[in-house]
Amino acid sequence: MSYMASSERYGEMKYNRVGNSGLLLPAISLGLWHNFGGVDTYENGRAMLRRAFDLGITHFDLANNYGPPPGSAEEMFGKMLKTDFLPYRDEMVISTKAGYRMWDGPYGEWGSRKYLISSLDQSLKRMGLDYVDIFYSHRPDPHTPLEETMGALDQIVRQGKALYVGISSYDAEQTAKAIEILNDLGTPLLIHQPSYSMFNRWVEDGFLDVLTNSGVGSIAFCPLEQGLLTNKYLSGIPSDSRAAKENTYLSEERITFDVIRRVKQLNELAVERGQNLAQMALAWVLREGRITSALIGASKVSQIEDNVAALNNLDFTSEELAKIEQILKK
Ligand code: NDP
Repeated sequence: MSYMASSERYGEMKYNRVGNSGLLLPAISLGLWHNFGGVDTYENGRAMLRRAFDLGITHFDLANNYGPPPGSAEEMFGKMLKTDFLPYRDEMVISTKAGYRMWDGPYGEWGSRKYLISSLDQSLKRMGLDYVDIFYSHRPDPHTPLEETMGALDQIVRQGKALYVGISSYDAEQTAKAIEILNDLGTPLLIHQPSYSMFNRWVEDGFLDVLTNSGVGSIAFCPLEQGLLTNKYLSGIPSDSRAAKENTYLSEERITFDVIRRVKQLNELAVERGQNLAQMALAWVLREGRITSALIGASKVSQIEDNVAALNNLDFTSEELAKIEQILKK
């Protein structure tokens, strides 16, 4: 059936400015790392994309290697764009990245100009796009001069293949240097994509200050810690969960008694706030206004609906925040 976006789609979502730029991103964005690959059910991915867009999620995050197999998430997304979203292309912010291993030989990963430019050309073909809105260097490359990697990002913007550039998983020092180089080149860094959740707080240790002080935005990946910060593992490991699947980065060994003890306490607090744990975990990531967008994943339409409803209660009392600190420290 052909798709017509809901006329209500801009009613509920909150949009945040990305640093000092002119771009706004939804407070919740959708990533296609899992559940949109060639091995996944196409119609389920398509239903999730449609529902996300109907709920005001305008930002979709991809990378060259998402799948499996690598590249297939971009292909699937390209197919969905063609059948469902072409009339809405200008209402969407589409990102992709290059950095991890994508093809054999010395030019298939990391941060050389050679790799980044050919990888983006391949991504554009797979998605059937002329340009992406944001192109990222997916990880820092210890062997390529940062000037070359940033120079490639600048070149890509000048070629019209991306409107903005980002970096992901660079530490504070590397980020400060990247910002300086890109400013000199005249293509300011739009956004950084770090991991951040209640269970993974490295960005609070000076890193976010670098972004805030330079007017760079941030989009937090794995804000639900791949599903751990939801109510799904409270009484075991469901067979359809990411932890039960093979070839994922969430192993059953991570779901220890101690983790679940804390998850249970967090869940009780969420319920007292009138939310579920996923919703509280997302509200918490967004709590200080320093994170532009929380970048979620989902395996079902209902999870997207659930997560967007987090926006109904983004405020925390100081007692709630103190209680969360206490639970996380124990
Ligand atoms: P999350 O931490 O949001 O985990 C998503 C998973 O949590 C879902 O697949 C689902 O797991 C579960 N879940 C989501 N919502 C709910 C809910 N309401 N109730 C119960 N369970 C829920 O993020 P991801 O790990 O998926 O990463 C998100 C995106 O971040 C990626 O798609 C990608 O775009 C980006 N990313 C970027 C990286 C980088 O290096 N830059 C690295 C990793 C991710 P289940 O399948 O078990 O149902």
